[in-house]
Amino acid sequence: MKIVMLGAPGAGKGTYASRLSKRYGIPHISTGDIFRENIKNNTELGQKAKKYMDEGLLVPDELTCDLVMDRISEDDCKKGFILDGFPRTIPQAEALTEALSARGEKMEYALNVVVEDEKIVKRMAGRRSCPNCGAIYHLVTLPPKKEGICDKCGTPLVQRADDKEETVLKRLSIYHEQTEPLIEYYNKQGILHEMSGDADVDKEVLRIAKVLEA
Ligand code: ADP
Ligand code: ZN
Repeated sequence: MKIVMLGAPGAGKGTYASRLSKRYGIPHISTGDIFRENIKNNTELGQKAKKYMDEGLLVPDELTCDLVMDRISEDDCKKGFILDGFPRTIPQAEALTEALSARGEKMEYALNVVVEDEKIVKRMAGRRSCPNCGAIYHLVTLPPKKEGICDKCGTPLVQRADDKEETVLKRLSIYHEQTEPLIEYYNKQGILHEMSGDADVDKEVLRIAKVLEA
């Protein structure tokens, strides 16, 4: 099963992607996570990507596309995969369609996670993450057991540089400009389904599972 998640930054794509990944036993591929991992390990790619990410800008396509194409060629992707955070531009989507079609394959589902911008800004302001294991918390809706400390690994939580309000607003405007057109791109392919980013997660996963399993 090949799934691409669409939706604004902070809409909850990652949450749904990780649920669906477990449910179907297919890898969850998050370009944001891959870049953050590279930053943590101070790789060349990480150093290049960090400049853009901290500013809320998109990492250039030439640093992004090959990375994803290599990843989806790995063995664990044979049964399918869930892309989260890629494609983010029409050229990225075209590169992906071409790469798949060269293998005689195509994307099967595009799940668009919908949330109002205003809610997103509130959500991201309270978001805290673990710089060590990547776990995500929220000051109001998903606080860690011990204030400011990761439940999973005990590391002090941080606010991502790109979750600061000003940067969030910039990311949203880039989303509307460059990423939102992908909704129409996948709608034309007849594979678009909408999900609520503001619903009970378990219920919404079950609802979409019926679509995926139909
Ligand atoms: P969110 O889902 O909250 O937007 P991500 O973790 O997906 O956050 O992405 C964080 C940052 O990583 C983006 O703001 C961008 O700078 C970079 N990034 C991730 N995926 C891509 C991509 N496909 N193309 C360009 N930049 C990307
Ligand atoms: Zn942790």
